[in-house]
Amino acid sequence: MSFKCWNGKILWVDLTTKTTRVEELSSNIYQDFVGGKGLGTYLLYRELKAGVDPLSADNILFFMTGPLQGLPAPNVGRWTLVTKSPLTGLYLDSHCGGPLGREIKNAGYDAVAVTGKSDKPVTLIIEDEKAKFEDAESLWGLGTHEATKILHEKTPKGSAVYVIGPAGEHLVHNAVGCCELAHQTGRGGAGAVLGSKNLKGVVVRGTKNIDAEDRSAIREVNKAVTKKWNEKSDSDFKKYGTPFLVEPSNERGQFPSRNWQNGYFDGYESLTPEEMEKWYIGAHLSCPHCIMRCTHAYKTEDPRFPGTEIESTVEYETLGLCGGMLGIKDAQCVFQLQFLCDDLGLDTIGTGSIIGFTMEAYERGILTEDEIGFPLPFGDCEGAKKLVMMIARKEGIGATLAKGTRLAAKKIGKGSESFAVHVKGLDAAAWDPRGKKGMGLSYATANVGASHLRGWPQTSDRPDSSALEVIESMIEQRDIKILRDSLIVCHFTYHMPLTHDENITMLNGATGQTYDVKSISAFAQRVDTLARLFNIREGTTRKDDILPPRFWEAETHGPAEGMKSFVNQEDFEKSLDKYYDLRGWGKDGVPTKETIKKLGLSSLVS
Ligand code: SF4
Repeated sequence: MSFKCWNGKILWVDLTTKTTRVEELSSNIYQDFVGGKGLGTYLLYRELKAGVDPLSADNILFFMTGPLQGLPAPNVGRWTLVTKSPLTGLYLDSHCGGPLGREIKNAGYDAVAVTGKSDKPVTLIIEDEKAKFEDAESLWGLGTHEATKILHEKTPKGSAVYVIGPAGEHLVHNAVGCCELAHQTGRGGAGAVLGSKNLKGVVVRGTKNIDAEDRSAIREVNKAVTKKWNEKSDSDFKKYGTPFLVEPSNERGQFPSRNWQNGYFDGYESLTPEEMEKWYIGAHLSCPHCIMRCTHAYKTEDPRFPGTEIESTVEYETLGLCGGMLGIKDAQCVFQLQFLCDDLGLDTIGTGSIIGFTMEAYERGILTEDEIGFPLPFGDCEGAKKLVMMIARKEGIGATLAKGTRLAAKKIGKGSESFAVHVKGLDAAAWDPRGKKGMGLSYATANVGASHLRGWPQTSDRPDSSALEVIESMIEQRDIKILRDSLIVCHFTYHMPLTHDENITMLNGATGQTYDVKSISAFAQRVDTLARLFNIREGTTRKDDILPPRFWEAETHGPAEGMKSFVNQEDFEKSLDKYYDLRGWGKDGVPTKETIKKLGLSSLVS
């Protein structure tokens, strides 16, 4: 391995046999796939055969690091998880705060790949180059908060802990894991993949130092962006973290309201950070080494143990999906829903979405009080909390809802599929595409489903005319994001701002290579194309690149009144054609042989 920033080694862990092996990767793989998302996509495509059940022993969890973890770069106290999703049956990559990536690098590896299934609950403990399996029977059933604390007591100081809660153990399709109490990762059901392997968690501690070809180039960027950030005085993100987005999102007609019946939520004022200020207790539990410290914690009460004060690290997405989406105007209720989901190990986006769907089914008479177990109108906080707990443990109707919105709607039937809001099975994030031109194409074509983190068109226009003019900009933003997720640099660094060029400078400083905007664009196309090929191998076609029916209904009131995601279906199809063409894919959405060859993927995909 010639790059100083890498160890050149992947630790493979087989939970069935309780054995490990080390794979050495050649430098050209690092060069072509950069790290994090890129390298994880390469490994997933190379290793996973088509048709593997995501909840079987054969699925693989890739805990990924990037070239900058362990180096003095800004906002890299993060890591990436890549696997096959139980929720979509497709490619899944997820990016998370916490020191796990740094510790894996310091332990002497660039990634940890976990396959197989343990016969009983275990925790994987890695201390430098040694790995061991610890009995986790006593942790099974515990929430993520308690399990994290216990594991910290039993492992060396400075260890990084990632654990699942009861939802992952019960194989709930919206289960995630939690890294260091506040950083959830694995939207798309990665928590259930751990659960299916009887893996309660992963703990890593490493003591090695990571080097770079040109450490000073990385330091210089860090110094420059720190200065820019420190000089910023007018940033709402700096003041409030992501909750500041509630008002602007609502003003654009993009904030979820009552299962997306609209993109403007009357009563949003109670969910703004100015209103929440009275419960604010600090930027607790932000990612390691981050000067932006955007994680805002608020005081609330554990709904399961009245009188017990806890802190809830609520983000914009939860205010959208567990607030407006459910017609809930009470910030304290949203804090509690966030805390419950975090402790039980549930994704707040997918869980809020399925509860919103259930509330609409109830109000339409499709699901009755008897079927749910209690009345569940929009705005019912107590009902929402009960349902979260039932979903996590698959109790009552929770067993149906635990499969996610797509499969729940299929089972419930009676027309409910028309208001099940997902793409490829992944529920839409808290951004209504009816408020932004061309944004629906990002949801429709993202390999993971309706994620808000796969590049948006750079426009503030509404979708009131053709979207064709913004497709290039969506691709540009998607490619920028692919680089960030491969370096594993936080998405929010655009607030600093940390520029695309500065990210490339840091990559060159770490590796000693000479990447530029053009070669990075080819790299991003390579990664996006390979993830696409993974999904095609699983059976997806152009017919899966669609938007849910609800986003074709016009918004009923507010700033985007009358807007649909695109002016018409024809404009959407033309935008899709243009996207495929610019990516070097055919009209059917399949990458052409020439594109595969040009991107250097022929030997991998043949
Ligand atoms: S800005 Fe926020 S999410 Fe990003 S690294 Fe810092 S604390 Fe983590």
